[in-house]
Amino acid sequence: MIGLIAYGAKRTTVAVFALLVHVFLWVPVTLVGRFLFTTSRYVTGTRLLTQESIVQMSPTSPNSKYSGDPTGQVVLIGGGFTGLAAAYVLTRQGVQVTLLERDDHLGGLAGSFEVNGERLEKFYHHWFTNDEHVMQLVKELHAEDCILYRPTRTGMYYANNFFKLSSPLDVLRFTPLNWIDRLRLGLLVLRARRVKDWQQLEARTAEEWLLELCGREVYRVVWEPLLRGKFGPFASDISAVWFWNKVKLRGGSRSKDGGEVLAYYKGGFAALAERITEAITSMGGQIQTGTAAAALVVDEGRVTGVQTGSGIIRADAVIATPALPLIADLVEPHATGDYTRSLRQIDYLANVCLVLELDRSLSSTYWLNVNDPDFPFVGVIEHTNFEPSTTYGGRHIVYLSKYLPDTADLYQMSSPEALAFSIPHLQRMFPDFRPEWILAHHFWRAQYSQPIVVRHYSDRIPSQETPIDGFYIATMAQIYPEDRGTNYAIRQGKAIGNLVAAKLSQAKQLARSF
Ligand SMILES: Cc1cc2nc3c(=O)[nH]c(=O)nc-3n(C[C@H](O)[C@H](O)[C@H](O)COP(=O)(O)OP(=O)(O)OC[C@H]3O[C@@H](n4cnc5c(N)ncnc54)[C@H](O)[C@@H]3O)c2cc1C
Repeated sequence: MIGLIAYGAKRTTVAVFALLVHVFLWVPVTLVGRFLFTTSRYVTGTRLLTQESIVQMSPTSPNSKYSGDPTGQVVLIGGGFTGLAAAYVLTRQGVQVTLLERDDHLGGLAGSFEVNGERLEKFYHHWFTNDEHVMQLVKELHAEDCILYRPTRTGMYYANNFFKLSSPLDVLRFTPLNWIDRLRLGLLVLRARRVKDWQQLEARTAEEWLLELCGREVYRVVWEPLLRGKFGPFASDISAVWFWNKVKLRGGSRSKDGGEVLAYYKGGFAALAERITEAITSMGGQIQTGTAAAALVVDEGRVTGVQTGSGIIRADAVIATPALPLIADLVEPHATGDYTRSLRQIDYLANVCLVLELDRSLSSTYWLNVNDPDFPFVGVIEHTNFEPSTTYGGRHIVYLSKYLPDTADLYQMSSPEALAFSIPHLQRMFPDFRPEWILAHHFWRAQYSQPIVVRHYSDRIPSQETPIDGFYIATMAQIYPEDRGTNYAIRQGKAIGNLVAAKLSQAKQLARSF
């Protein structure tokens, strides 16, 4: 068949071929489309995140206050989705919770700002329709009617051209690759799926594995620019497991007719954070924004509280959810050098998003992967091709996203500098674009945006229990083999919350038995 295609088969043969490859070409389409941010349904068997079943939650309504004795006092550090989900399950089980967030609003990396009175994520965010942990939480909060499902379009910018990549036939029309390589792109998935056990890939890099599976040309045109765009200087070190996870799980986020569908929350991710917050506070939990955990209070190897700018908050247990290097700073005075070093051994990349409010649309694509190394951003995401511009008073929202080390020039730029730097590149990509279209711009930076998943990553992941009694960590660097995402933040937050509730309950029973 490869030969027939390569040497010019008749149209009917091509049509049959198209039908056959249709089946498996969905996968590379999805993969290419979702490279910047991907999630999956796979439930890991690693040492983390398997505790969800430890404690059955007692109240059925999110707002039903636990009526028994308080089981203990827990301080949560960080008000992103991991911290919020943990606080939610703990309060439901009668634990007194104080959540500390150093920023003045909740949501962490999924936090928001306002455009025309409507909240919008600083960094583009959406869900896949199979992000089951988000959907389950939304259901528990009786907020299913707030989930909005939207069809989206994906494309790629390569060699000064735009390629639509929303369907398998678009892949067949992807002229930067010859027919054989287009087929190899599809076959990559079938070959990768033969790998049943991700652990056998732990010693390999994604680059090595992809070169073997689909050859140099497919790698050069499709995967290498995406890996470089996403992981910058770490691109060649990224584990094959990270990539395999994307292949294995493919995005199942499609409608019945095969079109891609993504999900959003009415009012943005901030509105969901708010809904969780209401559930927590209505059950007696406390949330303090603008309050950083400055230090841990540790007595004879056991955490007894958290120091903030306005005093010490007593705790029977503390759960920390910020990035590992920030947690390392907190534990440093109380743990061995080896332990704090182990927390620092996972590298992270930062991310910048330049958000443009435009008076008109740039294109009809929601998600544009940039496979052009001369363009300084890896993705152009036109959010209002997902959530309509009417939500933002008719303004069209475009994110220019780049993952980079926090030492990079772009990361260090001021907001006007970042805009001035970006405009000529945008004009090169969209020759009609005029700076006058820009009504407002915002430049957001996050230092710890993406943990770097290298070979043998499982050996690097710290356990959620730590050498300090009562002190636990639950961060996006521990989600492996999946990648970060609010879906997994919620899964992980619930799991750690349940684990800590169970430990406190056991301790209480033990104390009573004396
Ligand atoms: C560019 C980008 C795009 C993304 N797109 C998507 C997407 O489309 N869909 C999706 O589901 N996910 C997406 N994600 C991933 C998602 O945002 C994260 O996985 C998730 O928000 C992580 O939540 P978290 O609570 O684990 O961590 P974080 O959100 O990092 O929360 C940690 C919190 O701890 C706080 N903190 C730190 N130090 C202290 C201290 N000393 N005291 C008190 N508080 C402290 C921080 O301010 C922060 O709020 C994206 C991420 C990025 C960077």
